[in-house]
Amino acid sequence: MTDSPSIVLFQTDLRLADNPALTAAVQRGKPLICLYVWNPDAKGYDKPGAASRWWLHYSLEKLSSHIQQTGNDLVIRTGQTAEVVSSLAAQFKTPRIFWNRSCEPAFRKIEHRLQTFLKGEGGDGTGFDGTNLADPDRIQTQSGTPYTVFTPFWKKLQTVLPPSPPLAAPQKLPSPPSTHLKSETLASLKLLPKIDWAHGLRNTWSPGEEGARSALKKFLLAPAKHYSTDRDRPDLPHTSQLSSHLHFGEISPRTLCQAITSRMGKCQSAQERKSLEAYLRQLGWREFARYLLYHFPETAQEPLYAAYKKFPWDDRSDFLAAWQNGLTGYPIVDAGMRELWQTGWMHNRVRMITASFLTKDLLLHWKAGADWFWDTLVDADLANNTLGWQWVAGCGADASPFFRIFNPITQGRKFDPDGRYVRKWVPELAGLPHKWIHQPWEAPPLLLVEAQVRLGETYPYPIIDHAAARNRALLAYRHFTKNKHSNTSSPTSDSGKCAST
Ligand SMILES: Cc1cc2nc3c(=O)[nH]c(=O)nc-3n(C[C@H](O)[C@H](O)[C@H](O)COP(=O)(O)OP(=O)(O)OC[C@H]3O[C@@H](n4cnc5c(N)ncnc54)[C@H](O)[C@@H]3O)c2cc1C
Repeated sequence: MTDSPSIVLFQTDLRLADNPALTAAVQRGKPLICLYVWNPDAKGYDKPGAASRWWLHYSLEKLSSHIQQTGNDLVIRTGQTAEVVSSLAAQFKTPRIFWNRSCEPAFRKIEHRLQTFLKGEGGDGTGFDGTNLADPDRIQTQSGTPYTVFTPFWKKLQTVLPPSPPLAAPQKLPSPPSTHLKSETLASLKLLPKIDWAHGLRNTWSPGEEGARSALKKFLLAPAKHYSTDRDRPDLPHTSQLSSHLHFGEISPRTLCQAITSRMGKCQSAQERKSLEAYLRQLGWREFARYLLYHFPETAQEPLYAAYKKFPWDDRSDFLAAWQNGLTGYPIVDAGMRELWQTGWMHNRVRMITASFLTKDLLLHWKAGADWFWDTLVDADLANNTLGWQWVAGCGADASPFFRIFNPITQGRKFDPDGRYVRKWVPELAGLPHKWIHQPWEAPPLLLVEAQVRLGETYPYPIIDHAAARNRALLAYRHFTKNKHSNTSSPTSDSGKCAST
């Protein structure tokens, strides 16, 4: 019993540094099994989308080689996680099991099953806080309910920041038990696409812990200084692009938080300080998203404001296909959708513009957009994606009201003023002067000829007139609120945990 090994279950914490579950297992000093379980039968949001699976493959490859360098091996198994862990546990007679907790319903189910199993077997296991800045159960309104508005949540969260310092990566891992441990190969998980469409992803990203550290270093060198003024500009590289690294846990939010606060302590300029504060606030939004998913798990499928279940969404598949393919005729929308397709990532401002276009101009269900993002984003994250889509659609926590409808032309002019972003991703418009780049259908015919743009041939006419679409959306909304007025003012989730602040 005393020599029974420790099992560390890696999930969305694919790193050695600041990994509390791993550190605790190493400190126990017994033989160590590093385990990753892939469930090929998982469905829906329990299974990462295609672009995320690409990332996961390389992240596991890096983790595995890092574990090897420190004296152990990553054991890969397939099946239902709790069952796989249980059968390993049975083989080794009540080992200790360590994992980092997650806010995602699928992982919480696994955790619950593990705990039930351990209780039945008299085993021992511990879940650690490795993926959040704060335990979601510790942050509550004065009446003891969960927050559903960001600003008071953020104020409260700041009272527990900065978190304790991050843990160093163990230099040496205890060896695995002497018994041979069968492992699947990474290739056998078939995470990579059958037809190779991933060259754009390969050219853009470096999954893994080292890639995360260099992305942070790069961000701190310059973009961090401009974050507060330029973070909304998709034509400038002034955001950190750390979202996938954070999602897969290749870097911990605690490490990031410490790097930013220690930089704040040294920075000389008020501008840089403001930028670092703005960045911390975005980490606060990430925390808020995780907090909401933890307290309202049903929101991954349903709006937080239950009345919106009855919103009269349209279901035109031709509109959805045009949006997905970046062929709506609105250059900033098309640029975003093509950036997404080619790189697996899209700038936050453009995520908002494209999401507003889908849900309001096209009046399509936010879930259709969330599903597409789930499959195509390398950073697809159930908490952030759900919050983002429900925020734009007006049915989530602290959401932008439905009647706030982004105008794709003025948004384009404001946030991509020279049209550089559009020219990069919609090259067929590259010859247009910036005055017309965000509304080519208004350009003088001669100018279109000079720029070699043939509307309806080389680039589509707008699939819908924005002004008319806006009126249609507002009318639908007015009609909906008239019928449902009493239901739209507060969240009414099925869990009954609804709260105002
Ligand atoms: C419709 C929609 C869908 C989205 N889907 C996802 C998703 O699936 N995965 C995802 O990680 N983010 C999502 N976001 C949030 C945001 O767009 C991305 O986190 C951000 O663009 C990632 O780029 P970055 O790392 O350069 O961000 P930075 O600006 O450098 O921000 C640093 C980190 O803060 C967090 N963050 C920043 N903005 C937000 C936000 N609005 N909400 C929550 N966390 C935030 C992210 O973890 C990000 O990596 C979505 C936003 C919208 C509007």
